[in-house]
Order: sequence, then structure tokens, then C-alpha cells
Amino acid sequence: MLKFLQNIIAILTVKSSAFLIKLFKLGSGTNLPGRIARKISPGILSCLVNQTKKEIITITGTNGKTTTAGLISSVFRAQGRKITHNRKGANMLNGITSTVAENSSAGGKLDCDNSILELDEAYLNPAFDEFNPDIVLVTNLFRDQLDRYGELNTTAKKIESAVEKSARIKPLKLVLNSDDPLVSGIADGFGEDGLTKIFFGFDRITHLNEQKSFFSPQETINCKCGKPFSYTKIFYGHLGHYECSCATKRHTPQVRAEAVAGIDHSIIKIKHGSCGQFEFRVNLPGLYNCYNALSAAAAALEAGILPENIKNGIEKYSTTFGRAESVTLKGKEVLIQLIKNPIGATEVLRTIKNDKNGKLLIIINDNYADGRDVSWLWDANFELLAGYNKTAVISGLRAADMAVRLKYAGIKSQNLIVEQSIKEGLLQALEGVNNSEKLYILPTYTALLELEKLKQTL
Ligand SMILES: [Zn+2]
Repeated sequence: MLKFLQNIIAILTVKSSAFLIKLFKLGSGTNLPGRIARKISPGILSCLVNQTKKEIITITGTNGKTTTAGLISSVFRAQGRKITHNRKGANMLNGITSTVAENSSAGGKLDCDNSILELDEAYLNPAFDEFNPDIVLVTNLFRDQLDRYGELNTTAKKIESAVEKSARIKPLKLVLNSDDPLVSGIADGFGEDGLTKIFFGFDRITHLNEQKSFFSPQETINCKCGKPFSYTKIFYGHLGHYECSCATKRHTPQVRAEAVAGIDHSIIKIKHGSCGQFEFRVNLPGLYNCYNALSAAAAALEAGILPENIKNGIEKYSTTFGRAESVTLKGKEVLIQLIKNPIGATEVLRTIKNDKNGKLLIIINDNYADGRDVSWLWDANFELLAGYNKTAVISGLRAADMAVRLKYAGIKSQNLIVEQSIKEGLLQALEGVNNSEKLYILPTYTALLELEKLKQTL
């Protein structure tokens, strides 16, 4: 009885604070309500999320979690499933708790077919103490916020131990990117019955609008034996077709695909053993979104979603908060794209460098959630912008560092406006854009949150 009352108070707290946050436009505010709810009723997440009628799906990895979870949700809705989804990308335990509590009735009932939960790589272990997922999707592992998480192999091991722990309690399907050697090696030696592994990967990717080949490794990855992998194909970063002299090699994927990747959309053709071939269009820019769409399709197939609904859901998908989000601000066309690590940022730069009518606002913060170390800016390929001869506005707490980085990338200092205040930076950037131009805003995570608040005041 006490537990029941605690749950009800916790749920009402989340619902009322979500209402107040919206009323007073206090931003996306998803963490604090969840934190309070967990203090009031520590078992709240477990109690609610375990009421999910069909699969609980967790999405993790360095890049693309939010977009992939959004694509999966769209696909499941196309099949008529009722879902719970932490769509604002609040992917630690507090954020997930807020989401499921908001989706529950005041009496503590969660009425949904599927829970689709994006989870931060470092939080799988504690999360799987509270619930056991049916499907875990790992998108990719890149160097990201090293000061927070340590090296990539450590991250892979964390995911591995969480997944193996959960598979001992409840059967689990692990959906892995076979083109990423770090991801496809997860749970390699795990011999128990509870775990089924499904691999997805590209046989071939053709690029539209891109004359220069970019099949060169951007990040060196070593095999578990310590030797570097050799590649027959590299798609981006360390993703491709690889092998090592010790006999470790890319797993042949069950969900195979070919892509024609363009600046603002791509076409993907999937080959799957039991579902045959099907094709769809991804209305999102760049190669990284081809991977997001393929991984979403692979997870959906495992949950019994029909190919026609995968196609409908992916084609209908419009972007979420800060992930290639198109908006109009002060009458100007704006595309907001979060940047947070070298490979992701490089792929975004590659996508926008071909737009001759594009202008730039880059906002770099170094708060905890961004990662305190901004040395990653030196690993991102800002050289792609060399020859950029329009004005770029640089803003945020680390605007000065970003400006130095751009000067070394070959951008003339007279083309740079450095304005630490994000509000001033945004206003100046918008002022400098005419009607035939588009403003590309590249913020780090906490800069994105601030932008979100500013957008409501313009
Ligand atoms: Zn090896």
C-alpha cells in the first residue's frame, strides 16, 4: 500500500512539474522531475516500464541514438503500436523515469505496446538493474567526451557486461552494427542461451553530389589482439569492411543493405532473409543517417514490424530536437545540427560544405554534459570549410578556441565574428542571412538547450 502511494505521488510530481516547466517555458526540463520521482519512489521506473505489453527496446551507442530512436518510434506507430519514447533525448535514468511517468496514468498504469528508450552508453548497467530489455540496439562507438567515459574499449565492455547480465535474466536480442569492429565484437564470447545476435551493415554505399572519394580511415581502430584492422572498404570513421590477420573479421550481416547517399536525402535498399527486399527513402542528410535508418529497420524487423510499415515510418519521419532540425527564425531558414564529437561533426561539415548559400553559426560550450575537454575540435575535419568566404559567427563559452581552430582550418580571421553570448551570436547570425540563404547552426549539447529557450523568445 505504501509503495502504491509512493508511486502515485511520484507520478503526480512528474506530471505537475512537466506542466509547470511547459507553462513557464523553462526549456525541455526532463531530468529534475525524474530525479525527484526516484527519490520519492525508488522502484518507480521498474514498476512502470515492466508493464510494457510487447518489446522493451533500448538504443545505445555514440552517435545517432536520438535520431534512431525517433525513426524506430515512427516505424512502430506506422504498424499501429502504442509507444512510450524518451523523444527529447534525455537518456540517463532520471530522464527515462520522467518519460515513463509522464506516459502513465495517475493511478500508476503504463498502457503501451512498446517502450523505446534511448540510453546513454554509461547507464546501461544501472538501467538493467531496474528492467530487462527485449532488444538492445548498438549504433556505433566513436571517441566522444573522453574525459567522461574513457576509451572506446571500456565503453564496449560496459555495454557487454550490461547486456550479458540482462540476458541471464530474460532472453535478449542484440542488434549490432557489423561495419563497426568495436560494436560487432560485443558479447563475442558469451555462450548462454538467452542472447541472440543480429547484425546489420552496408554492402555498398554510393555518394550523390560528392566528387571526392572519402574512403580513407579517419580513426584508427585496433583489433582485440592489438593489431590494426585492414580494410577493403571504409564508409566513414572506422565503419566499413575490415579484417585482422588473427582471423577476426566483419560478421556477415543478416540485414544487408545498399545506399545511395545524398546531401538532403538517401535511398536505402534492404535485403533480409525472411522478408526479402524492400526499399525506402530517408529524408535526412548524410551518410550517418543512412546508418541510423538501417539500424532502425533492423531493430524493427526483430520486433515483427512489416517492411511496408518500416518504409512508411522512415519516410514519414521528421527530425527531433537539434538533430538536423529545420526551423524558421525571424523569417530566416535555419538548420540546427548538434555536434559533439569529431566524427559526427566531420560528417555534418561534409553535408553542409556543398551548400553555396549556407552561412554558419557554431556554438561551443564545455559544460559537464558537453564534455569538459574541447580538444576534439582539433580532430574534427573543419578543413572541409577551407575556402569558406562568408561571415561565420562563433559563439559559446569556448568561442575563442573554436575561432582559433577555424583559422588553422584555413578560414580568414576577417570572416569570423566571435561573440561569446549565445543570444547575441544568434541575433547577429540571423541578421547576416538574406532570404536566399540558409543558416546552419552547429551547437554542442548545452548550447542546444540554450538555443531551445532562445527560440521561444524570438
Ligand atoms: Zn586481431
